[in-house]
Order: sequence, then C-alpha cells, then structure tokens
Amino acid sequence: MEIMNFAVDGYKDIDAGEYLGIFGNPIKHTMSPVIHDTISRQLGKDMRYIPFHITENLGEAVDMAYRDGIVGLNITVPYKQQVMEHLVDIDEAARVIGAVNTLVRCEDGYKGYNTDMYGLAKFLVSEGVKLDGARVIMLGAGGAARAVAYMCLKYGADRVYIVNRTFENAKKIADDMNKVFDCDKIIPLCVEDYYVIPNGRYIMIQCTSVGLHEGDGLPLISDEAFYDKAEIGVDLIYNPAKTPFLKLVEENGGKAINGLGMLLHQGVKAYELWNGVEVPDWLVKRVYRALCRVAYDNTDNIVLIGYMGSGKSTVGRLLSLGYGYDFIDTDEIIEKREGMSTTDIFAKKGEAYFRQVETELLYELKGKLKNTVVATGGGMPVKEENRQLLKEIGRVFYLKASYDTTYQRVAGGTGRPLLANLEGNSLYNKIKEMTAVRTPIYTEVADEVIDTTEIDEYEVHKLIAATMSSYAEDVE
Ligand code: NAP
Repeated sequence: MEIMNFAVDGYKDIDAGEYLGIFGNPIKHTMSPVIHDTISRQLGKDMRYIPFHITENLGEAVDMAYRDGIVGLNITVPYKQQVMEHLVDIDEAARVIGAVNTLVRCEDGYKGYNTDMYGLAKFLVSEGVKLDGARVIMLGAGGAARAVAYMCLKYGADRVYIVNRTFENAKKIADDMNKVFDCDKIIPLCVEDYYVIPNGRYIMIQCTSVGLHEGDGLPLISDEAFYDKAEIGVDLIYNPAKTPFLKLVEENGGKAINGLGMLLHQGVKAYELWNGVEVPDWLVKRVYRALCRVAYDNTDNIVLIGYMGSGKSTVGRLLSLGYGYDFIDTDEIIEKREGMSTTDIFAKKGEAYFRQVETELLYELKGKLKNTVVATGGGMPVKEENRQLLKEIGRVFYLKASYDTTYQRVAGGTGRPLLANLEGNSLYNKIKEMTAVRTPIYTEVADEVIDTTEIDEYEVHKLIAATMSSYAEDVE
C-alpha cells in the first residue's frame, strides 16, 4: 500500500490536531482540502484534511485510518463502490445508489454515506432549480449518474430520460431506481435514439466524463437542435468551467451551470456529518469563492525565490504532495535540456548564457501554469526582466534565511555554481556578500516574505498553504 505525502512517515508528527482526509487514485488535483481546511479554519477547529494516494489494499488503508483516529474520510475515483466492503454500516441512500463518498467514524469502524446526491440537490435548490414535477434528461450512466437518478426520483422528478453510449448501463440504473421507488419514471435510451424524447423544456444533467479534458470535442449529443430542449443545463464537470455541453446549452438560450457547486455542497455535507455541526451560509459562500479562485484563477501558482539552501525545492515538493500542486524546478528543467549540471553550464557557457536560458524558460511558462509551484534558481530574480515575469507567473514567496543559517545549509559541498571550490571563511564571506546584494532584490519582487531561519521546511510549506488559502478566502 502506498499512502501519498508524508503520511507513511507519520503525518501526525507534522501537525497537531485532528485529521480528515480523502482516498483516491489519482488524487493530486483534488480541491477538497480547500473546502475542509477553509471551514475548519473559519470555525476555529484544529483539523487538517490530507489527500492520501491509495494504489492498492483499500481495506488495509481504511483500517489504518481508523486505528490512527482519522475522524472522517472522503472516497473518490476509483473506490466509491469498492470501499463499501470495508465499512461497519452504510446509509440507506448510499446503499441504494451503490456508491459511498464519505466515511464517518463510529464505534468499531466507519459508516458510509453518499453526499454527492445531497450536494447536487442542495446546489440545484440554491440555483433556484426545482426538481419536483420536472422533466429531466441525463447524459451518461456511470457511478455519478446513479446518484443523480436517485436524486431525481427522491426529489419528485416527473420523468427522467437516461441517454448513454452503452444502453445496458442506462438500463441497469433505470431498472434499479424504478424498482426502489416503485415507479416507471426513468426511461433508458441509447445515444442513437435521443430523438424519441418528446419536445418540451427539460433540466439536462451531463453526467459523462466527456468534456473533462481539453480537446474532448463534442458532447455525447452534438446535434444543436437537441439543446432547444434545455431550459437548464447542469454539467457535473467543473473544470473547465465551460464544457462543450454547457456552451451548447447557452448558445441555445438555456441556463448553464457547472459542477463546482455540487462539489462544494457534497463537501459541506460531509463536514457536517463528521463534526456534527451546521456550516453557516456565509461560510458556505466563502468556501465557494475559495474554490472558484483555486479552480479558475492562474494566480494560484506559487513562485519560490530565495538564496541557495533556503529550501525552495523541498518546500515545493511538500506543497505538491500535501496540497495537490504541480511542481517544477527551473534549474532541473534547464539541466535536463542542456544535458549538464548548472555548475557545468556556468563553467562552459557562462553566467550570462544561463540567465538568458532562464528568461526564455519564464516566457515559456507564463500563462501556461495552473495550480503549480515553481522553485527557481537563486539568481533568477537578479535580472530585472525575470522579476517582472516571476510576478506574472504567480504569487512570489521569498524564503529568507540568516547568513549563518545559509552557511550551515550549504557548507559541505553543494554543487552550487557560484560557490564552487569555496569553504570555511571564504564561503561564509561570499554568502554574506551575495546575500547583501540579493536581499533587497528578493524583497522587492516578493508578495510574501517567510523567514525560514528558525523553522524547517514542513513549517514553511504549511505557512505558504495557509497564506494561499487566506488569499482565496479574501476574494469577493
Ligand atoms: P464513470 O462511472 O466512469 O462514468 C463515465 C460515464 O461517461 C459513462 O456514462 C460513460 O459511458 C461515459 N463516457 C465516458 N467516455 C465517453 C465517451 N468517450 N463517449 C461517450 N460517453 C463516454 O464516471 P463518474 O464517476 O460517473 O463521473 C462522471 C463525471 O462526473 C466525471 O467527469 C466526474 O468528474 C464528474 N463528477 C463530478 C462531481 C462533482 O462534485 N462535481 C461528483 C462526481 C462526479 P459508458 O457507460 O458507455 O461507458
């Protein structure tokens, strides 16, 4: 079993307090920590939400989480069905839906719930969408569609068409749900037969994974005329914000809503189940703003600058592992492209050449990164053009340290080009001299300065994550 980030090494040694988490594979891009950490912080609860990358032995991971005292877990792809074998109890709706996305700690183990269904229903209400008596067209018949079909019947939909590429999957959901609710309101269709749906205005809910990836192209049904039927179109996908399905809905006069609100409300409901609290409306709105910012705003990139030995790479990797950021190290990229170490590039081609390569790399990165931590070479901000580029790429954090601390960190041979062949006093003096020149430059370009002299990389990465979350919360 692999549990990602520092969990295997004892995540409890890093943070005090209680723990929540999420199991999935992949898990890197989960936005759930934004939801739960924001709520905990605002409610003054000492809780941390940790993404765990589970690659095998799900049962063992669940047992371990229970033994470790984890208060609650979210479960995401691909474990929502499989996890049901490892629970002491399952809520009735989750049992019928056949998928669990939330585990609540109870005596002897976890009880499973499905808050996806609740999340979508609550979100639709908040958007003024009424399911009672409504006619619905669902596209897709996967795991999420089962929860959507259940929700439609539970909240009183009059008729539900499920259109899917594979007819058998649509039929299975229709049969199961019609049986549970003792009705025949759900009608399965294979995609080629969509034209049999009577004219009228419908709530359309896009439940396939088509549109999730750039270049996915057309939605399940690409006939524009079909979208005349869409009074409201809801896509469970939230990134990109506007999928091809939502564009077609909008172009044909319908109201288009993406799945970020569903993500929000399923998370809020899970938090309430774990903690026995009611999350107030003002806080739900605040969490939504934080989610929007993380999902759609490129300024969520983090740029780490600072003198050598300030911990930029280690902190960057921790942010990547613990908070789902992508991570890049500009020195590593340059070394790979040039086929030699930075020390060799300096020795063979000179510092000016290296700085120019850095500038070209920054132009390449500008506008292309999302939710990424960029660890930079220590001298990068020295060039004025680079300073502007760094600011345009993301929030700039200067990891500051005293001369003595830097000396201790870099002494003992580090392969750093500007300190090559130096030791003892001459190394110390060189660090002092370079730091005196660079400190005002780093300070000028930085959005935030973090003094790392007295704290280790774990503390630094937590401080940065907290600062990023507070930016997100502050946005109106
Ligand atoms: P799933 O179980 O894998 O189901 C995938 C569905 O997409 C199936 O209906 C499948 O059709 C269809 N599909 C996949 N590729 C297709 C293609 N190339 N052409 C036509 N149909 C295709 O996935 P899921 O768990 O239901 O999730 C579906 C989507 O909902 C995902 O994008 C997920 O991110 C999103 N979601 C969002 C939230 C939220 O909180 N906003 C919550 C849950 C899920 P077949 O049956 O023919 O294979």
